[in-house]
Amino acid sequence: MSARPSGQAGRSVLWFRRDLRLRDHPALLEAAADGEVVPLFVLDPALWGPSGDVRRTYLLRSLRALDADLGGRLVVERGDPQRLVPQVAARAGAARVHVSADAGPHGRRRDEAVAGALAADGRELVRTGTPYAVGPGTLLNGSGEPFKVFSAFARAHRAHGWPAPADTPGRVRWAADAGEGVDGAHWPEEPGTGGVELPPAGEAAAHDRWERFLASALGEYADHRDRPDLDGTSQLSHALKWGELHPRTLLAALAHRRSEAAAESARTFRDELTWRDFYADVLWHRPETAREYYRPQLEALQYTEPGEDFRAWEEGRTGYPVVDAGMRQLRTVGWVHNRVRMIVASFLVKDLHVDWRFGARTFMRGLRDADLASNSHGWQWVAGSGTDAAPYFRIFNPVTQGKRFDPDGDYVRRYVPELRHLPGKAAHEPWEHVEGYAHGYPERIVDHAEERRRSLADYARVRG
Ligand code: FAD
Repeated sequence: MSARPSGQAGRSVLWFRRDLRLRDHPALLEAAADGEVVPLFVLDPALWGPSGDVRRTYLLRSLRALDADLGGRLVVERGDPQRLVPQVAARAGAARVHVSADAGPHGRRRDEAVAGALAADGRELVRTGTPYAVGPGTLLNGSGEPFKVFSAFARAHRAHGWPAPADTPGRVRWAADAGEGVDGAHWPEEPGTGGVELPPAGEAAAHDRWERFLASALGEYADHRDRPDLDGTSQLSHALKWGELHPRTLLAALAHRRSEAAAESARTFRDELTWRDFYADVLWHRPETAREYYRPQLEALQYTEPGEDFRAWEEGRTGYPVVDAGMRQLRTVGWVHNRVRMIVASFLVKDLHVDWRFGARTFMRGLRDADLASNSHGWQWVAGSGTDAAPYFRIFNPVTQGKRFDPDGDYVRRYVPELRHLPGKAAHEPWEHVEGYAHGYPERIVDHAEERRRSLADYARVRG
């Protein structure tokens, strides 16, 4: 057993980052074992600056909920964690600062720097747990290398398994006098969301949503998860991103589903959570792929500078109904259904020939669940430059995809009022109907068949 480093006995700091919860929280258990706990959040300009207002607003609301759960004791600092975390630890007389390990490129660098600054002062940064079921960097293939495709990673992930949820500590002694909280001078104004409607934030709201999903939608998840017209998915990606609940909690609840159909849905849902672990693992091994090509040869594709077509895509005016519905969903609720994320991403890269990084930036600014690993690698998967095993031929046809996954046109009509007069599937093909453009819906900005040919030719060229 390692000896406790010196410092005021009986006090530690719990520095919250992407773990804004009090249940199933291994680092909290460690902190509580040290005695009184100072709960801290640092608004880091390096992360706050590039975030969109939707994400900033959601974070502030989640922190308010956490603060309420802590009886108003959350200490909030604003500035460089390398300077502030040691200051808070010194002020509190805490020998140890507890965190859940961060796996992202910025977080890893920051934590190394903070650990160094704490060590210089005789204090320690203690990392316990990660935001993932299996920590990024844990799994390697038979040759000792990182996994490059999902299916092999998922098999290893299942074989490895994950821990059961952590116990909730009986009573945590939260320090009450440790600094300014959410009402203090460091607390920013909510920037507003530009009209985007956000779901309620915080751990309790995330658990409510999860319970509702378990009761009403998990049973049909395998059949409904690809249907953007239905409320068939958990819509917990923002809660998982901020750690309002941990995937372990969800995985534990999925076990022991009785009927075969329920078990199939539970397996499918587990696989989706595994994608989240997979992309975090890919980014752990190749941190530069947050912004650079995972398959560098794809960088030689001929891309178009984003111009008017790109703006039409961002604003949902491409003339392709499901693409426009998806981009308007982003602007309305800060979330887009996974099937539609793939369709709109494919359209930008393979129909408009715009580099995936521009689209990824739009998503990072607009999504309430914006997450570097899942977003960059979701985009790279669609663009063909990432971990897809069959990347070159996957070009989504926005019309057939729309008709297949939104079979009654309800999703399109929900987000595109100019098409509400078209019944059923007709909403996917206004060009087939005399009244199709009667309410101002725009004409198609490109011909999909032609752009598809151009993309395939270009992919063939770079493959050599
Ligand atoms: P559910 O279907 O309920 O799935 C449960 C959870 O599994 C999700 O909350 C999510 O954490 C995880 N998950 C599901 N599908 C994926 C996936 N394909 N990749 C990684 N994790 C997954 N997800 C983000 O969390 N943040 C992003 O910034 C993000 N950007 C994306 C960009 C593109 C181009 C694409 C194609 C996908 C992206 N995804 C991203 C993945 C996926 O679209 C969302 O996680 C999902 O739509 C969230 O809705 P949900 O919570 O209802 O998912």
